[in-house]
Amino acid sequence: MTEIERHEYDVLVIGAGGAGLRAAIEARERGLRVAIVCKSLFGKAHTVMAEGGCAAAMGNVNDNDSWQVHFRDTMRGGKFLNNWRMAELHAKEAPDRVWELEMYGALFDRTSDGRISQRHFGGHTYPRLAHVGDRTGLELLRTMQQRIVALQQDDHAETGDYEARLRVFAECTVTELLTGPSDAPDQPGAIAGALGYWRESGRLVLFSAPAVVLATGGIGKSFQVTSNSWEYTGDGHALALRAGAELIDMEFVQFHPTGMVWPPSVKGILVTEGVRGDGGVLKNSDGKRFMFDYVPDVFKGQYAQSEDEADRWYDDQENNRRTPDLLPRDEVARAINTEVKEGRGSPHGGVYLDIASRMPAEEIKRRLPSMYHQFKELADVDITAEPMEVGPTCHYVMGGIHVDPDTGQSRVPGLFAAGECAGGMHGSNRLGGNSLSDLLVFGRRAGLGAADYVADLDRRPDVRPADVDAAARMTLAPFDPPSARTGGASGADAASGAGANGAGESGAGENPYTLHAELQRMMNDLVGIIRTESEVAEAQRRLGELRTRVRQVFVEGHRQYNPGWHLALDLRNMLVVSEAVASSALLRTESRGGHTREDHPGLDPDWRHRVLVTHLARDGEPDGEHDGGVDPVLPRVAVGPAERAPMREDLLALFDLAELEKYYTPSELAAHPGNTA
Ligand code: FAD
Repeated sequence: MTEIERHEYDVLVIGAGGAGLRAAIEARERGLRVAIVCKSLFGKAHTVMAEGGCAAAMGNVNDNDSWQVHFRDTMRGGKFLNNWRMAELHAKEAPDRVWELEMYGALFDRTSDGRISQRHFGGHTYPRLAHVGDRTGLELLRTMQQRIVALQQDDHAETGDYEARLRVFAECTVTELLTGPSDAPDQPGAIAGALGYWRESGRLVLFSAPAVVLATGGIGKSFQVTSNSWEYTGDGHALALRAGAELIDMEFVQFHPTGMVWPPSVKGILVTEGVRGDGGVLKNSDGKRFMFDYVPDVFKGQYAQSEDEADRWYDDQENNRRTPDLLPRDEVARAINTEVKEGRGSPHGGVYLDIASRMPAEEIKRRLPSMYHQFKELADVDITAEPMEVGPTCHYVMGGIHVDPDTGQSRVPGLFAAGECAGGMHGSNRLGGNSLSDLLVFGRRAGLGAADYVADLDRRPDVRPADVDAAARMTLAPFDPPSARTGGASGADAASGAGANGAGESGAGENPYTLHAELQRMMNDLVGIIRTESEVAEAQRRLGELRTRVRQVFVEGHRQYNPGWHLALDLRNMLVVSEAVASSALLRTESRGGHTREDHPGLDPDWRHRVLVTHLARDGEPDGEHDGGVDPVLPRVAVGPAERAPMREDLLALFDLAELEKYYTPSELAAHPGNTA
């Protein structure tokens, strides 16, 4: 068997975005030895790309704001499917987490009286997003990296070793979680560690650790048009599933309304909602501000009905209602989709986003410097002089690992999750700005949960050598010619091979790039922004075919930086995650948030209290068998409904009965204090 580098830690954090770094800081501050592993360079994560800001009810710009208003907005945005306890913790704790960042050294934009400035965003009643121009995520991540360096300096002063309690393993991908023996047939074993590989050398790395925090971000790379970068292949979702955890809400995928549509090479790149928050408006090819035609019944009364009122609102929120350009993202994305479909789109299949006619050029450059440069350099468009062309792009996954809201622990003992890879917080649709605050609130809680878990352990589960061998074989399997795989041969010694990097072709096996392109196109076309039963069923059929072909993926060359091999491993995760999305999308026969069924338009109150749970198929469940046993390479998933716990009464009382009646069944509202029926 191939050589494996070994390390031992108390807590292993997989992912170095905002959630992972905040978790690592917390666990380290509790005195534990922590490793942070990330697939890309340290500092390069989606968090760094977050532009608009971090939502927290600090009330700096409008002192009517409070955690209760933020909680209400979040639940409305998620169409009341959110895990209400998570939404409550998030709304209450976000301001402290932003202030804490200032203590770490973050420099937010200020109001004229010197407080942290907050900007408008879709679905937020008051200006709430703390921001640094349109580069907020960069500042957030830079600050936490700085905090990590400070902790390492403390460790150096005490022990002479900067990495004594906190070490970063960058450009290292985790491929498998390892667990100890299970106590009961239906109970997964406790976390014992994880196996990964250095992307540059291809050498395998084993981490022994009794607690793992997954903070691996999203799944966007399963879709063709996406704002996500190459890392976002649903690894954490798939790792958790394979270890025995559950995923929830996987049908809810957010298509951000404004991605670039032209030129083709940059299609999908995000255009921040901050453009609309700061005054930009959407127009169709007739020059009409069409969003006034798309205010759904559940939001009637909350949004301006005329352009004059909408424009006045930017300066006077007390006496005017918000512009419908700032409806929640799912509503705006669907509206753009309809305008384009009905022939009122822009030349390249989007609509127009106009800020040029709304404020002076210098003001645009000051407020939105990244957007100015992005369009100038990538599309040769000067946004201070002409409108942008924009259209929906796959952006964020609401679904994720099912965790306990207070500790972030999954059903696998010792396995925690936070950030985009965790599910529940955002319900069926996330409000912009609520992700950065989610990362801070639940990253901290997961780090704390992991530290408490480790402190309470009597004994750490051992990593079992047979499991390490199996995980290593799986990781190296794409180097084996498909014909040799049944015999259990592995590509363990592929490192010695010479030749070009990349994928094998022809009869030798499947090419990972071809399969990836097919998967992305199919998910975009059949399980994208608008879904129907027949299309999703067709997607499932094609996923079945891809499953067979993914098993045949073959890569040539050696293990030193071999992108074909990396993609082959990612494909395994993308396929399982796509199956979870498609199966959940087929079962939910209603339209809610980031799940639109053309054949079931509208909300169905009977679906509001039900979440869809994805788990590994058990014996006896449809698709639970693979040649008489569970398939270790691509285990099958099964999806079924579960009841969402009813909202606590004091939280329910924060809403008017009349509003809840739009979402809830009558029997659910019996407990509402306003209900006299
Ligand atoms: P990420 O920041 O995505 O980090 C994931 C980490 O996991 C990375 O370090 C990655 O390398 C690592 N990783 C993944 N798989 C593996 C593996 N197998 N092994 C090892 N490491 C792995 N949200 C807002 O609230 N406000 C905004 O203004 C905003 N703007 C956005 C703009 C863009 C362009 C995008 C793409 C997103 C935006 N979002 C915004 C969403 C938000 O940025 C993300 O949801 C959030 O940053 C996710 O953070 P995270 O910590 O969960 O993961």
